[in-house]
Amino acid sequence: MPLPQELVDPEALGFDPGKITDRYSAERARRMRADGQAQFIDITPESQYARYLLDDHYAGAATTREPLTDEVEFLVIGGGWAGLMMGARLKQAGIEDVRIVDAGSDFGGTWYWNRYPGAQCDVQSYVYMPLLEETGYFPKERYAYASELLEHAERIGDHFGLYEKALFRTWVTDVRWDEKAMRWIVSTNVGDRMRARFVGIATGPASRPRLPGIPGIDDFRGKSFHTSRWDYDYTGGGPEGGLDRLADKRVAIIGTGATAIQCVAHVAAGARQTYVFQRTPSSVAPRGNAPTDPDWAKSLKPGWQRKMMAAFDKTLAGIEVDEQLLETEGMFRTFVHVRKLMEKVDLSTLSAEEMQQLFQLGDHTTAEEIRRRVEDTVQDPEVAEILKHWYYGGCKRPTFNDDYLEAFNRPNVSLIDVSDAKGIDRITERGVVANGVEYEVDCIIYASGFEITSDFEKRLGIPVFGQGGQSLYDHWRDGMRSAYGVMVHGFPNLFMVGGLFCFTLSLNYSGTLEDQTEVLTRLVHVIRQRGDAAQPTIEAEEEWIREQIEAPPTILSSIFGGAAESCTPGYYTLEGTPMAERRDTRREGYAPGGTVYAEKFRSWVNGNLAGLEFMAG
Ligand code: NDP
Repeated sequence: MPLPQELVDPEALGFDPGKITDRYSAERARRMRADGQAQFIDITPESQYARYLLDDHYAGAATTREPLTDEVEFLVIGGGWAGLMMGARLKQAGIEDVRIVDAGSDFGGTWYWNRYPGAQCDVQSYVYMPLLEETGYFPKERYAYASELLEHAERIGDHFGLYEKALFRTWVTDVRWDEKAMRWIVSTNVGDRMRARFVGIATGPASRPRLPGIPGIDDFRGKSFHTSRWDYDYTGGGPEGGLDRLADKRVAIIGTGATAIQCVAHVAAGARQTYVFQRTPSSVAPRGNAPTDPDWAKSLKPGWQRKMMAAFDKTLAGIEVDEQLLETEGMFRTFVHVRKLMEKVDLSTLSAEEMQQLFQLGDHTTAEEIRRRVEDTVQDPEVAEILKHWYYGGCKRPTFNDDYLEAFNRPNVSLIDVSDAKGIDRITERGVVANGVEYEVDCIIYASGFEITSDFEKRLGIPVFGQGGQSLYDHWRDGMRSAYGVMVHGFPNLFMVGGLFCFTLSLNYSGTLEDQTEVLTRLVHVIRQRGDAAQPTIEAEEEWIREQIEAPPTILSSIFGGAAESCTPGYYTLEGTPMAERRDTRREGYAPGGTVYAEKFRSWVNGNLAGLEFMAG
């Protein structure tokens, strides 16, 4: 049975759903390119692009230290939210011998590296900034800026004594299981060869920047950098803006994802001329930031943060909807529209296909609001047209900003549309060539993103060898294999903390980390009591994979995941790789979301740990 006519009536809706889906298909066809994920340049420490990875303008010259060959109980690779939370939980549980190793010169991870002007978190700080109650801090605003987030990372490090054994500016080059000693050997670029009983890989979902493989990229003679390695010596100013050294510079920004949306207005305000090269526009909704109300903050009762994190996740999963969150959180906008539509039909009569149609109508309603916002803000109608996004909300990360669109009203800002499959023609000694025109510039800023859904080896970037010298990446050749997203057969006492897995469970990475690190710490405790090491059996991995594939999705994961085959390419869809050729990405997440996952993982660890094999030394 089709959806009731009044629901799909263009007049009542204010848009024609058929025309929108046709336009989406046309945009997808225009943007698809045969080289998919291969279009990007791999940045490795060994490659000529290593500076995009290893250069640290924030810290100055590296100091030398003696290589370490000691042993620790728990070594965590990565000092961002995941590593810090793991470290904090272990310390809280009385496991003191914890070492965090990080490539940056301090804690912070994403927020250490991403200091580009305007960098800010899209999830409310009250649920996104971890361990607020434990550290006694309260965020200044609803959406925190990068400097506050970085300071908070340092606060967590201080509060839990995580600086004591931390190793910074240290790049892990090899992680190898020593079967006889039942210890991990962790080697680094400093020459360390440390031993650890437990290793946590907490390198996060977006720690490896990537560059577009544009012909001639090496020929450019001017200044260039990636947004996650911002060079304030060159631009002047800081994360709050004020890029005064750009006043006589012409700047090209390549990319218009979530990062560019936040930094473009600052570059536009500072530079003599700004060229924004756009392949796929982002959807840019209102930010809705506000200072924290001190009376509200004072009124909160102990345990508030956990409760709020849970409410966020339950709303997301449609388990228990928090009406106030729905109203204030832009990420939930489509959910609001879908709910309104649901009230108008008898859901029990709808087929799966009609439900999908209903989700799409909700998504179109949000998209139309956002497209109207572009028209209302950008004065030049041609530029406004180019800035409108034509794809489902689940194809590309939605963004929220109040200055980006306005920047295109400045006379010194040009939007260069490179939206067909070919994109930018090439880069020359002097600048960027697009649509046959050379744009001479002094500086190219690559807002080209990260290895978020690329092959595991590229994303994690660390060689990991388990029992019998097997590579983790061989074990994962056909897709991620794990028990509960955290433990892997053949890799005893190795934990995947957050990263690949938690990123896919909730829009609030910290919320799922909160639960996962707590339960993981309990698991570490059990392993220490019952043996030297533990690993899941191959059957336990199979069982979890079955659970991942068969578990029913939530409304929100249906909204976000349902349109993959009709998306313009991007990292969400592995750059448009056809489903049949993709590894099984269902194994990297869990469709029911963070709340249900946490319950399952907790009851496994608190229960009989079926399928976990304990090993004695
Ligand atoms: P993205 O991968 O989202 O964006 C990269 C951009 O580079 C895209 O616009 C892409 O275009 C463009 N690009 C790549 N190759 C070319 C090319 N050859 N020619 C022209 N353009 C090109 O990276 P971001 O750094 O913006 O964001 C990464 C993720 O980090 C976000 O999705 C989000 O998850 C997270 N993030 C979160 C923030 C927050 O919470 N506030 C802020 C910033 C980032 P195309 O789309 O056509 O491929």
